[in-house]
Amino acid sequence: MSGLYPWQQSLWHQLQGYIQQQRIPQGLLLTGYAGQGKRQLAEHYAAALICEQPDANSFACGHCSACHLFQAKTHPDFLLVEPDEAGKAIGIDKIRQLTVKLALKPQFEQYRVVIFDPADALNNASANGFLKCLEEPTERTCFILIAEQANKLPATIRSRCQKIHCAVPDKQQALAWLATQGVKQNAETLLQMAQGSPLLALQYQQQGAIELRQRYFQQWLHIAEGKAHWLEVAEQWQKTEPLETTVLLTWLSSWLVDLIKLAQAAAVNELLNPDLASDLQGLLAKLNLKALYAYYDKVLISRAQLSTQLNKQLLIESLLIDWSQLSQS
Ligand SMILES: [Zn+2]
Repeated sequence: MSGLYPWQQSLWHQLQGYIQQQRIPQGLLLTGYAGQGKRQLAEHYAAALICEQPDANSFACGHCSACHLFQAKTHPDFLLVEPDEAGKAIGIDKIRQLTVKLALKPQFEQYRVVIFDPADALNNASANGFLKCLEEPTERTCFILIAEQANKLPATIRSRCQKIHCAVPDKQQALAWLATQGVKQNAETLLQMAQGSPLLALQYQQQGAIELRQRYFQQWLHIAEGKAHWLEVAEQWQKTEPLETTVLLTWLSSWLVDLIKLAQAAAVNELLNPDLASDLQGLLAKLNLKALYAYYDKVLISRAQLSTQLNKQLLIESLLIDWSQLSQS
């Protein structure tokens, strides 16, 4: 029992190859969308590097003293670098603390592993600080960088890492796994909403995301139909926000993508939200296509700016004002 997700087998073979050939890359960059278990994969690999007697498949044995310490999260050669708060940057102070630890030898005979999660949260100063760690060979140390947006990392860091891309699993495999988790109803819609990432689809199901998306969509539609004022909707979106604003903007952008697809005569099954097709089709008739493209760009830029944007309320209001103008002009 490996504990890996079914879609990670081939990725594991690659990692196992490093272990069996005793060619452990000093830097490893795991990329891919959220919700596929990148962190779990990184921890399995870390456990295997730290274990005294990995099994034939290179998995950690789970019984040795190193494994016990790892499981108790007290292994001195396992370090985790993450922001103090989700969505915030990893500051230079974290890299300074890391540098101090790296100056010493690993305490056990196996590897020392440092996981950065998410590595794309390194800011300029901390990325530069970390680059120095990567440039100076450190004894038996492996850095694992987890990133959704690897292009946010400086090229100088990326080029020093072995890259492993965690692709979204095959749809049938993802649906089969969701079924084992008890997700049978609406599994396809959930998976579509999660852009194919099974763990995110499961989380969406637990959060009642289909109903939420429906509510947000209806409110957005009401602005276009003149049934609701943008300000009223902005307040509701702010108040009833059990979701990350990123998720909301991802949904918003998916409605826009579908509008653009419909404008290009795409079939319903090609849409990201096939269940919203008829409402979207009705909406399309009253939209100026050129303005729609510009609005879509604005939503994408806003989503990218979220980690730096301090006032999310203003951002949402601005997007809804534009939407109100676009849909009612
Ligand atoms: Zn072990």
